[in-house]
Amino acid sequence: MELYEKSAHELSEMLSKKECSSEEITLSVLDRAEATEPKVGAYLTICREEALKKARELDNRLTKQARHPLAGIPIGIKDNISTKGLLTTCASKMLYNYVPPFDAFVMERVNGADMIVTGKLNMDEFAMGSSTENSHFKKTHNPHDLDRVPGGSSGGSAAAVAAGSAVVSLGSDTGGSIRMPASYCGVVGLKPTYGSVSRYGLVAFASSLDQIGPLARNVTDCAMLYGLICGHDGMDATSADREYPDFAKGLNSNVKGLKIGIPAEYFGEGVDESVKTSVMAAVRELEKQGAEIVEISLPSTKYALNAYYIISSAEASSNLARFDGVKYGYRAEGYESLTDMYEKTRSEGFGDEVKRRIMLGTFVLSSGFFDAYYKKAKLVALDIVREFNEAFEKCDVIATPATPSTAFRLGENMGDPTKMYAADICTVTVNIAGLPAISVPCGNIAGLPVGLQFIGRKFSEQTLLNAAFAVEKNIGEAAAVNF
Ligand code: GLN
Repeated sequence: MELYEKSAHELSEMLSKKECSSEEITLSVLDRAEATEPKVGAYLTICREEALKKARELDNRLTKQARHPLAGIPIGIKDNISTKGLLTTCASKMLYNYVPPFDAFVMERVNGADMIVTGKLNMDEFAMGSSTENSHFKKTHNPHDLDRVPGGSSGGSAAAVAAGSAVVSLGSDTGGSIRMPASYCGVVGLKPTYGSVSRYGLVAFASSLDQIGPLARNVTDCAMLYGLICGHDGMDATSADREYPDFAKGLNSNVKGLKIGIPAEYFGEGVDESVKTSVMAAVRELEKQGAEIVEISLPSTKYALNAYYIISSAEASSNLARFDGVKYGYRAEGYESLTDMYEKTRSEGFGDEVKRRIMLGTFVLSSGFFDAYYKKAKLVALDIVREFNEAFEKCDVIATPATPSTAFRLGENMGDPTKMYAADICTVTVNIAGLPAISVPCGNIAGLPVGLQFIGRKFSEQTLLNAAFAVEKNIGEAAAVNF
């Protein structure tokens, strides 16, 4: 077995026993990236020299001082997370040359633990999309089938972990962007409770929904990385000030007495039969091991997509106003006035999907339509929150498919935005309610991975990780895809 195929927790143990060096691990992962990138295209920037240099320095230091369990482990970072001195483009022409002068909070944690950053990962432009096809720079291919999408918007983050060109990665999730690509690429992805991971340094899409989270090939690695990045940050006004346990140490696959809620609305129309069967088979397996299945109902789910696309676009239209050609990134040439410069810059700098969201957001916030759209969507959000609260009186976790189908073909949904949006049906309610959710591989359909999603109460990440751990015990850990 090559080093790049091993998980973070295995590599961590090897490092502490001096069975290998961080430089060897990093080299193995970077060489794997060199071999797979022409086919997968997960990275926008690879920092080979810097990564190797840092690994070497670390190897020299490691013997002398205490180390974090993730020290020396290679990690890929989604390109909407600010990395000091390292290009951060959000996969947009608008930020094609933007090098942040500061690190995001999560990067301070990643660097503080001496993890090795291999590079920046491809995504849908400004995290808007479900297939990574909205990247200005390139398409990312699903390592399980190169003709298919890796999901989005954190498609690069999921594809790299699946391909073995990163051991773990960070993504961001506004309406499913960690869980959907995790599901399509057969890896584990956690969308944390809103407020548990600082958004400082995450380029904002929809501030009330955005959250950074980990992707990994197994639940233990996911728990380790989440443990590293969660915590209070005074630089994010929505950051929760509380204590967090050691999630990796607390992992326990015993599901005896765990009440698993099954919402009929997530197993209805629009979800492939084969996906439902696969998810339910995994749930039944947990039942055999002592979990209790409870039927629940979340009726407002039918309005969730509409509410999500209204709320997220409204916030995006405001957040993206800062990209005006003055402060950073792209500026059009040959303009006649300031307004002309703004117009040309934004027309040329943003892609179609981003423009669609800005127009939609501006429309739903405009005085004539605010009550009819934005206010209604916020009322739906209240119903969604209330229904989740009621559901969690009857169960500990909710199990659903993470996506209504397995990965679709490249180009398949590009001509039809509403079809693309429909792929988010199982994930958006979680962001609206600020809850945590995890996608864990639960099977394959015709060679393509299926993700089971567990949704939990706020700050119940340990319960979610444990439930996912139990699924993993039955299915087995994901391996780096061989091709
Ligand atoms: N697919 C959803 C969208 O396009 C979710 C994106 C995300 O979570 N960043 O808005």
